[in-house]
Amino acid sequence: MSAPPLNSIVLSFEDARRVVEEQAALVSAGAVESVDLLAAAGRVLAEPVLADRDLPPFPRSTRDGYAVRSTDLSQLPTTLDVIGEIKAGANLEQIPPNVGTGQTVSIMTGAPVPAGADAVVMVEYTSLRGKQVEVTRSVVPGENIVPRGAEAREGALLLDRGVGLNVADIALAASAGKSRLQVYKRPRVAVLTTGDEIVDIDAKPGPTQIRNSNSYSLAAQIQHAGGEPVLLPVAPDELQGLRHLIEEGLKFDLLLMTGGVSMGRYDLVEQVLSEMGAKFFFTGAKLQPGRPVVFGQCSVGGPARERLATYFFGLPGNPVSTMVTFELFARPMLEALSGKVPSKLIFLHVRLKKEIRIKTGLTRFLPAVLSGEFEHSEVELVTWQGSGDVAATARANCYAVIPPNRENIPAGEWIPVMLL
Ligand code: AMP
Ligand code: MG
Repeated sequence: MSAPPLNSIVLSFEDARRVVEEQAALVSAGAVESVDLLAAAGRVLAEPVLADRDLPPFPRSTRDGYAVRSTDLSQLPTTLDVIGEIKAGANLEQIPPNVGTGQTVSIMTGAPVPAGADAVVMVEYTSLRGKQVEVTRSVVPGENIVPRGAEAREGALLLDRGVGLNVADIALAASAGKSRLQVYKRPRVAVLTTGDEIVDIDAKPGPTQIRNSNSYSLAAQIQHAGGEPVLLPVAPDELQGLRHLIEEGLKFDLLLMTGGVSMGRYDLVEQVLSEMGAKFFFTGAKLQPGRPVVFGQCSVGGPARERLATYFFGLPGNPVSTMVTFELFARPMLEALSGKVPSKLIFLHVRLKKEIRIKTGLTRFLPAVLSGEFEHSEVELVTWQGSGDVAATARANCYAVIPPNRENIPAGEWIPVMLL
């Protein structure tokens, strides 16, 4: 039963990541659908959104106060004649056609600044006496006014294809009057977990059996990254059954497998895929957790159908390894398949609370707790039993990222962390 020797391709973490990014750049997005703006958050935009009018559509006051000619306030205090009031949404006929020298108009936040005025003085620096107002503070031209079209000109590109719609993007689309948006359909991602010891979560596990947690954590990560997970049955550690399910999985937009990629006698995923004519980009990466991670491409009909080949990842079975390798490698590919420009990894830098002693050679992503607000932020590793320890990882809120050349990192050093 032992697997024949395969050509192993073990890359540094950076090189492995680069290989995934290169492949992701070759992928094109799938079909498009129209969704209500209320359901569009997190989806990937498939059409450009243009400004249908200037933003703002008129010179907008950003304060409650008085619209003035700034040159009238060179001597202070000064008294101006109040010739009208403009509230937000005022009809055009309610807006005085011009503010002349010595005149002012009472104005509210969000109201259009009338012709003649070039600044707004805040109400806090004025006192109203009948139809006159005394002003005690000068203003520079343009103060407290956003000029018409300063945020975007009519016809300008507000949002481009490939944008993953965040909260501000939703607000921008709403400002452009888009109640529906064209978005890319979510890629369907097959999840195939392997292992004779794995039982599904509704079954009562025997004394040596382990409940399947990876399919569920992966499903959550896939949804979060914009994909639609499809859970396949658990595959046995046996060639034929495994091959049958891998063939099923390759019919989807992406296949994620967990387990069966280490050096054990029953780790058969690579053997099966290599018998199926798969192309391997790497069969390991120098990181912890997640060293045995595999990335490749395979088509159900064999190598002749390379054009239609599906990308696959063999993620190590240890639950924390599965989570980490999804984030680092599978996510950019899934984002590309969903029409998005894959996001770069974002590392924050935080002061280390307690020293770390570690061996060199691997890039590490260790579960850690980031705490403290404002200038008191600090990070500390959680105590864990290794890459199978989901309970410890559930107590973490980030991964401390340790480069492969570091051995002892003293308390107080600023280290990179990746939010979980
Ligand atoms: P493997 O990568 O197949 O050697 O598995 C490594 C470890 O992860 C073993 O202890 C497995 O029992 C465990 N494991 C594998 N798959 C899963 C899963 N789907 N859910 C929970 N634990 C798993
Ligand atoms: Mg296994």
